[in-house]
Amino acid sequence: MLAADLGITRQGVRAWLKRHGYPKDPDGRYRIDAPTEAQLRAYFAARKTPPPPGPCSVDGCDRPRMSRRAELCALHHQRMHRHGTLELPRPGENNRSKTHCPKGHPYTPENTYKYDDGRRRCRRCRLDQVAAARRARRPARD
Ligand SMILES: [Zn+2]
Ligand SMILES: [Zn+2]
Repeated sequence: MLAADLGITRQGVRAWLKRHGYPKDPDGRYRIDAPTEAQLRAYFAARKTPPPPGPCSVDGCDRPRMSRRAELCALHHQRMHRHGTLELPRPGENNRSKTHCPKGHPYTPENTYKYDDGRRRCRRCRLDQVAAARRARRPARD
């Protein structure tokens, strides 16, 4: 089949033939003669997309690079961007490795609530939030 040969759809071939006013057979099909086929091949060969970028530079990764100038595939690029490393982080690793809460209070045993699922919560921040909520409800009396 010509279309498969050219790596395009039959619709693509038919659209081309229609554009060029190529006559259909009485039964409504296109019967492509040799010169037309050569034209078609030349046209679609010229339009073929350039070869894709090479594979990702990470060992064992066979995904294509994000672009010709990139070294990494999309997945590894994202990972590098987010974690600064190509190692796959264990779930929760990102947070477990933190020694301070987002406000900078230390995650010491005394200052840390632990949830059953392993998440941690800064006690200092929690108390601050409670105090702030209380202040918001009741206007200061001094
Ligand atoms: Zn990759
Ligand atoms: Zn805190």
